[in-house]
Amino acid sequence: MPLGVLLRRLAGLAWAHRRVALPSALLTVCVQALMLAMYTGQGLAIDHIRHRIDPDAPAPHWPMGIAPPEAWGFMGALTALGLGVLFLSVGAALARFALRVADERFVQTCVVDLRVRLYDKLQRLSFTWFDTHDTGQVINRITGDTQAVRGFIQGVMVRSVVALVTLVVFLAFMVSTHTGLTLACLAFVPVQVGAMWVYGRVSKPQFLEQSRLTDRLVKNFQEAIAGVRVIRAFGQERRRLSVFDEHSARARDQRIGIAKTQGVYQPLTQACGEWTLAVLLLYGGWLVLNGPAEGGIALGTLWVFRGLLGHLAGQVQAILEIIASGPEALAGAERVFRLLDEPLTIDSPKEPLAPEGAPVRGAVEFKNVTFAYPARSKDADDAGSHATGALDRPALVDVSFRVEAGETVAVVGPTGSGKSTLLSLIARFHDPQVGSVVIDGVDAKRWQLEALRHAVGYVFQEPFLFSNTIRNNVAYAVPGAGDEDVTRAIASAEALDVVREAPKGLDTVIGERGVSLSGGQRQRLTIARALLLRPPILVLDDATGSVDAVTESAIQRALDREMAGRTTFIVAHRLSTLRRADRVIVLEHGRIVDIGTHDELMNRPGHYRAAALIQLSLDDDEPGASHGEAAA
Ligand code: ADP
Repeated sequence: MPLGVLLRRLAGLAWAHRRVALPSALLTVCVQALMLAMYTGQGLAIDHIRHRIDPDAPAPHWPMGIAPPEAWGFMGALTALGLGVLFLSVGAALARFALRVADERFVQTCVVDLRVRLYDKLQRLSFTWFDTHDTGQVINRITGDTQAVRGFIQGVMVRSVVALVTLVVFLAFMVSTHTGLTLACLAFVPVQVGAMWVYGRVSKPQFLEQSRLTDRLVKNFQEAIAGVRVIRAFGQERRRLSVFDEHSARARDQRIGIAKTQGVYQPLTQACGEWTLAVLLLYGGWLVLNGPAEGGIALGTLWVFRGLLGHLAGQVQAILEIIASGPEALAGAERVFRLLDEPLTIDSPKEPLAPEGAPVRGAVEFKNVTFAYPARSKDADDAGSHATGALDRPALVDVSFRVEAGETVAVVGPTGSGKSTLLSLIARFHDPQVGSVVIDGVDAKRWQLEALRHAVGYVFQEPFLFSNTIRNNVAYAVPGAGDEDVTRAIASAEALDVVREAPKGLDTVIGERGVSLSGGQRQRLTIARALLLRPPILVLDDATGSVDAVTESAIQRALDREMAGRTTFIVAHRLSTLRRADRVIVLEHGRIVDIGTHDELMNRPGHYRAAALIQLSLDDDEPGASHGEAAA
């Protein structure tokens, strides 16, 4: 992303919150004006003293002719000046406090805006995007990079504005006092600007690499936590540690490299500030010797210049810090914006064509659907990398079938044959590259996305529950559901025992204080969650894989009751389930190889009958414990 574009977008973000920035701007001017008045007061005091010691020296040049009355005498006037300086500095301190708060309010407003937009974007990005990006990287982006943007807004948008205002106000004052001396003091500014420019160019790639390495470290940590069981079970702690060690060392070396770059640059700019003071003493001293009458300046003015330059040096230092953190912040900002720019491949159409207001019936048709997962790009570390489709290895090939509303369809096939993929196309988790999925006669792509997803209740293979109460988990898609409905859904999913055993019943928070559920218990709660929604289309992707056969058949009976009149897709392995289905779709290598009722398929030679016969024989061997797979 070109620097210009990046800066424009950051400025756009700040501009959107300009109202919040207004107090900040006013206070900035206020602080600078107070500082200026304070230095002027000090200069007057110096001239006042000098005039007393040497009556030939120029008298203080009272601003706007407001001089202390003669009656006050020397000490009276000096005391008045001292008190004035004191009040001004107290005023400046108060204004600085208010400014700090106002600045933070502005910065936080921008950051919150950005964070909410990122969150919203993540909620809407396609599953494909998540398939091709690391969670660690994404989390880093949301925490680290938003923080970097915060630094940038604070640094560049706020502090550079402060620096600029200071520069303008102080320089205007200095020029109006003595143009020649002002120009002399600016002699080293081109050197500083040049150094900043070179630094920016050199360090930006270094910072980009740094954040890539940080991403990798975060990913390491994340996998060490998520995969802790596997790592320990296979005794891989040492190896993981040495990999982590190596990655850490790379990150460390990169940081040291950045410090070296900064180390060359920062002393140079600091030296520029000291050289400027030398110029001031040399040239300024000569001007004081000449005196104001001869085109020179008063000693007090030299003092004021010294004060202002010191203050300006502070501002220059601030700008340096901004520049120093600039590339890092810009790198972070660039990644945030790239994520925000990520196209929404799956979104609601501009003019949805779904049957207006009519209840969803649940007829599903696949028309010559071919779908391939995007190839995971090699440099998925780069947020902007777009996954490319790899149609040479499709997960589904030319799949066509039609399911009437209310039918129950079982999908069977060996692992990797495309069952989950097929189910995921119904509610547009992915879009097929070829062909279309049609719901109630309307292409799924023409449906309003939310309406479509509300019409489909999914139970996934991996039972994910939020760390929330059982009630809230089950009522996830129906937040206002009453206890009675929640309990009925739980009963239908044969999960009442889970609630009964939980210490606080429906109000038990899952995952808290040792309340951990088994895979089967979790699965039954996710089934209850889908049942409570009472969707026209229910999709059960191996939803009963980790419950025992007895519970499964109980759930199946409840499903028959609950789901009468609803279209149901079910990936299951047990014959009892397959027998109940109106039709069975047999998949192999992403193609439909057979379709028919259980009885029809049993009467035809093929994969289905072979697999079913194996299971039947297993059932004979182990009565009551049928764990065999019918078609896998
Ligand atoms: P099944 O549910 O029958 O086990 P899947 O639908 O999960 O099969 O997978 C079908 C094919 O698609 C497999 O070759 C699998 O490797 C591939 N696949 C599944 N999910 C993804 C994914 N998120 N990204 C890339 N390939 C995938």
